[in-house]
Amino acid sequence: MRKPLVAGNWKMNKTVEQARELASDLLPGLQDVSAVERVICPPFTALLPICAMLKGTDIGLGAQNLHWETSGAYTGEVSPAMVKEFCQYVILGHSERRTYFGEIDETVNKKVKAALEIGLTPIVCIGETLAEFEAGRTAEVLTRQVLLGLADLTADQGGRIVIAYEPVWAIGTGKAASGIGANDVVAKVIRPALSSLFGEDVSSSIRGLYGGSVTGENAAEFFGQPEIDGALVGGASLKVLNFLEIVKAAAK
Ligand code: PEP
Repeated sequence: MRKPLVAGNWKMNKTVEQARELASDLLPGLQDVSAVERVICPPFTALLPICAMLKGTDIGLGAQNLHWETSGAYTGEVSPAMVKEFCQYVILGHSERRTYFGEIDETVNKKVKAALEIGLTPIVCIGETLAEFEAGRTAEVLTRQVLLGLADLTADQGGRIVIAYEPVWAIGTGKAASGIGANDVVAKVIRPALSSLFGEDVSSSIRGLYGGSVTGENAAEFFGQPEIDGALVGGASLKVLNFLEIVKAAAK
């Protein structure tokens, strides 16, 4: 059984004070839904105060990135150990990082390894662009992202990741994929690629999330699919009622 997981990616939103306010509005509702692994991913600056607020709860905290080196002259970067001080999870390979900050599969791979080595759970994002989708290249692109992004992991390490299928054309656009379409991609492309790396047993144990314009209204369509084990949520994770609706839908 794969426990459902819903993670909220706050992206570059919320000062410390605003983040505290959002977290305190979310906390009571989130605490009611223990059947779902719930994770919030505020910006780096808010990790310390939110970590303190989550103490004694079973709500997870995630960062949105890290650097693979342990320390040194990497101005502006944050190391795995620095993230581990506060977090249990880290989002890696998000399409916004690939698009705006030059991340490629090889750097995602270094980050995934570094996160696993320090004991963080990486939520590894993969997804095709609109042009790739329209050119019928979805399977090719996703297979490459899985094989290169997760290259050289042991099967044990592979079993500790979470994969998020996030079609780039669906992120922040209000145009979500269909539940059936996303399920098909996970079943026919992503799990076979995971199997080729880690074997079928490990592949079938890895949580497969969907991300891309998930809301309280459409969440059930995704969570009703056998291969979709939760969601990575951007915009709607900043709206208390909407995010709680998504989490509750995952519990059903
Ligand atoms: C995301 O940022 O991972 C995401 C899925 O964003 P949104 O829910 O806003 O489409």
